[in-house]
Amino acid sequence: MNKRKKKGPRRGDEAEMDRARIFDERPCAFLWCLHCGRTYRWGEFRERDGLQMCPYDGCDGDTVMDGWRWDEVREGNPDYPKVPKRGHVYELNRTPGNIAEEFQRFQRVSKYSRGLLPQAQAAVVLGLSKQRVNALVVAGHLHEHDFFGKNFIAASDIAKFKAKKRRNGRPRGSGRNGEVLRVN
Ligand SMILES: [Zn+2]
Repeated sequence: MNKRKKKGPRRGDEAEMDRARIFDERPCAFLWCLHCGRTYRWGEFRERDGLQMCPYDGCDGDTVMDGWRWDEVREGNPDYPKVPKRGHVYELNRTPGNIAEEFQRFQRVSKYSRGLLPQAQAAVVLGLSKQRVNALVVAGHLHEHDFFGKNFIAASDIAKFKAKKRRNGRPRGSGRNGEVLRVN
């Protein structure tokens, strides 16, 4: 009786997307993933740790921060079809028009994630090397978000990561008053 969720594109029964709630965004037909360059239908995603991820296996993009509306991508490449080919990798061409939309999304995402820090600066805040931060991103412990061709880390992720580090580290009675960040 219960219809199992299929992996492929579904029609008609679109799932509720977090981005609609978070950004008060109207649904569109297709989204494009900034991480893998492929498109998917509104309502498609893979659920991972409570996040709605890009539906393509192995992609670490999520649908909230890394999904562009297909029309914004087409703005930079008017030759791209209205209905994109499934699984096809489409290059992004940034134009003044879609950069303005990107900036609006940057502001919304920034608000939602309590700020975005360029990756190099995130490494400084975490007291880690850039290589270590890269490794943490690859391992899925931190998520990076590309805006304007640069990598950003969400402040909420940084805070979570620091809290975890503190929990796992040795308890330090002396550091009560100040924020003491110990990274070994
Ligand atoms: Zn993807």
